[in-house]
Amino acid sequence: SMIKTNESQTNIDDIFITVKTTRIFHKSRLDIILDTWYTLAKNQTYFFTDNNDPYYRQILGDHIVNTNCSVSHNRKALCCKMSVEFDYYIHNDDNKKWWCHFDDDNYVNIPKLIELLRHYDPIYDWYLGKTSIKQPLEIDDREFKKKIHFSFATGGAGFCISRALALKMISVASNGQLISVGDRIRLPDDVTIGYIIEHMLDKKLTEIDEFHSHLEPMAMLEKNSLKNQVSFSYSGNNINNRNVLQINQLDSIQNDSTRFYSLHCYLFPSLCGWKKFDKQ
Ligand code: UDP
Ligand code: MN
Repeated sequence: SMIKTNESQTNIDDIFITVKTTRIFHKSRLDIILDTWYTLAKNQTYFFTDNNDPYYRQILGDHIVNTNCSVSHNRKALCCKMSVEFDYYIHNDDNKKWWCHFDDDNYVNIPKLIELLRHYDPIYDWYLGKTSIKQPLEIDDREFKKKIHFSFATGGAGFCISRALALKMISVASNGQLISVGDRIRLPDDVTIGYIIEHMLDKKLTEIDEFHSHLEPMAMLEKNSLKNQVSFSYSGNNINNRNVLQINQLDSIQNDSTRFYSLHCYLFPSLCGWKKFDKQ
């Protein structure tokens, strides 16, 4: 079978991890990542932003990329960044077996990500991720004047694409073409990826339950299942309206509003540098 032929081979260096960010989130979101899961995938992770930030340039070197995309949450700007992420993966020199995209409000459980990818052989076409809607999306194809259906992996939960599939995407998505496809269907970046893979290339999304965006209630994840999950997120700055993991490993004096420091301490006690790791 196509599955489980690759067990021994996939390791951290086979993965190219891209994280989408924007200038106003550098301080509030990147520091958390840099202090936690990034330490487990330093050489493999690249941040895609929209300015030159000397502070993070000094820390990250060429692992932070100024996409020159516009600073905005609009569809065009987001498709522009995703397009640069894809092009970076395609042009990376070591032909990495996997491209995994995450948002800057994701925590990536790196050992679990590697373990997941070991179950899929990257010489076949794999699009791994989590849908956010129950049914495939239905849109009107303006060109052919008919309805089409496809699924897409929510960008905010992260997704991974095998090298074989990424190579097939080149003809329609490389060198900025992803932006044109997004313009044509007028839908966001993650939806555009789904459209390219499911509609244009006729491949299927493989649903992975262990990816999580903040569209799901984080509190639903049981503490003793956290180690089995691949990605996590958070949302809301308001104390009464926050969607965060129900885990608080750190002393309450310390500010861990995203719960990512607590999560990191829980998953990797030996990497927990925040001394007040005192609750079990
Ligand atoms: N983002 C961006 N440009 C913007 C706003 C957001 O690149 O102007 C990125 C942000 O860094 C994150 C993703 O888009 O990786 C999703 O943004 P956010 O979490 O703020 O919103 P959501 O869509 O999850 O509600
Ligand atoms: Mn978000």
